[in-house]
Parts: sequence; C-alpha cells; structure tokens
Amino acid sequence: MNIPESYKRINCPKCGNSEQRVTCEGKDFWHGLPGAFFVGECAACGFSFQSPRPADEFIADFYPSDYLPHSPASESIVSPGMVQLLRKRYGYDQISEKSANIKASWRTLPLFDFIRRYKADVALTPNFVSDGRLLEIGCGSGSTLLRLKRLGWGKMYGVELMPTAADHARQLGFEVTTGDIDSAIDQFPDNYFDVIISAMVVEHLPNPFRIVQKVAKKIKSGGQFLFSTVTRDSIEARMYGLYWFGYDLPRHLVYFRDVDIRDMLARDFDNIAIVHQPSALDFIRSATFRTAAGRGTVLDKVVLRLGASRIEWMTLLLALLRMTDRVSIRCRKK
Ligand SMILES: [Zn+2]
Repeated sequence: MNIPESYKRINCPKCGNSEQRVTCEGKDFWHGLPGAFFVGECAACGFSFQSPRPADEFIADFYPSDYLPHSPASESIVSPGMVQLLRKRYGYDQISEKSANIKASWRTLPLFDFIRRYKADVALTPNFVSDGRLLEIGCGSGSTLLRLKRLGWGKMYGVELMPTAADHARQLGFEVTTGDIDSAIDQFPDNYFDVIISAMVVEHLPNPFRIVQKVAKKIKSGGQFLFSTVTRDSIEARMYGLYWFGYDLPRHLVYFRDVDIRDMLARDFDNIAIVHQPSALDFIRSATFRTAAGRGTVLDKVVLRLGASRIEWMTLLLALLRMTDRVSIRCRKK
C-alpha cells in the first residue's frame, strides 16, 4: 500500500484512539480526482473513517466546481392520503381544509397509512410545531425548506457551504448562512430551534460526533433532530467493497454502522428511530464503478441492464428488511 507522505493519520473521531488499520484502498470513482484514498478502522471501537488522508485544508478541493449536493428525492408528499396522514399523525392541522377534504377513495384509506408514514419518515418530515423555528444544515438551494414552508412552517433558517446554492435559497426567502456548520452554528443561541434537519451531510464531516453535540445544544428540550446518511453494515457495502458508492472517496470522511449512529445520539437524544431508504441509485453507481474498473460481475451486468427504475421495487423490499445503505433518522432532544 503506497500512502503519500503528505497524508495525515487521523485519530478515531468516535473514541479518540490513535491505533487503526487500513481496511480499504480506493479511488475517486465518481469525480475522478487523482490519487489513492484510504479507509481506516479504529483498533479500539471499530469505527471506520478516512485515514490516513490529505490534511483538512485540502478538503475543499475534494469538491469539483460542478459538485451538486444530493438533492432530496422528489416524492408526492402532498397526495390526498398524505395530507390526511400529516394532519392526523404529524400535527399539520393547519393544512387547508380544502386540500384535506378530498373525496374519500380507496387511495385515501388508512389501510395504506403505514406506507405514507414510511415515506414521510424517509423524507425527514418533522412533527409540526406551531410558530416553531426550523434549521436545515446543508440546505442546498432550498428545496427541502420550500417543501416544508408549503406545509406551514414559517421561521426557517439554513446553513450552506456552497455560495451559489446558498444564494438561491436566499432568493426563495430563507435566512441562510454561508459557511461550514462548525462555525455557522455558533451564531445561534442555545435551546433555539424546535427542529434541525440535515440530509446527507454528517458523512462529509471530519468529526460528526463533536458536531452532533453542538447541534444538540441548539435544539430545545423535546425538539426534533432529523437527518439522513449512509451506513456500511448494509448489503451494498458488503456486495461492492471498495467500489461501494457510500465510500464516495475522498468526500465522505466517516462510514457509520447502525450502532455508531445510536452511540452518537445516545447522550443528548432519545426516541431514536432509523428507517432504511430504497437505494436503487447506489446499486447502479456501485455497479458502474466496478464495471468501469474492469472488475464487473454478472450481477453488475444484470443491475445495469435493468436500470434504476426497474430495481427500485427490489431495493424497497431490502429497505423494509432494514438492509439498504441509506437511512433516515429521527430522534428527540432529551
Ligand atoms: Zn475508536
């Protein structure tokens, strides 16, 4: 293994231990940044993170200028049945009677509420808080904030690293701070937010354990923290190894297991619920990376031939069995 001399060994972000072994040598399969990158596993607690790696000041270079933050999956969150569910289970009583009083049909039967509830949880839909303050960390161009505004949220804030995306969200009327979470979050008073949301951000942080403690301070007692990430004790990570899209070297800096997420939240949060998302794109991308590297398997051929839309149902099934790599988490501040 040829580790560049300039690379730094990172202490375990979870437990601080300095002993680790390199479990994987990979490349930037997605954006083609030159060089090799490494995944280390802590000898003490088993947490997995990028180490040795380029020093922190190079992290900004990991993101090409055309890099687009993950945009939230488009979903028909305001179908008639969903409106009823949001009113009934998530406290959105103020959604207009007009849109709620839709003629009952088989599609609005409570029978399918468990599917709607699953969809609402996957989409990180918070319980409604009248006059509540909501912050999205990594708000991109503001599409999630806009969706929640349409559901009745009023006091909405965002933090975004990419200036052009932040400008766009500002134009939509949201109060957005440009910058990294670590410094941006300090501007808010403690116990300030009813809800903090963050989609596919924590895996990009050098130390999410420390940041989540900071985030917790800003949430009122009983408030909600909802976020999504990828997990490595998943079928995709096992199937694809170093070609697994969830490594996204060098942009992803940490690789959670379910237990790491729970440990990260245990001090400040309770009522922790983790749902797994359908992940067709992760199968497609991982199979593409392995095929492009000349190591494609028969299964990769099948996956790529079928395409994302045709394997979606299969990944939904795997998600319900809690096996897929993408997860949505909700929890309550103690
Ligand atoms: Zn450790």
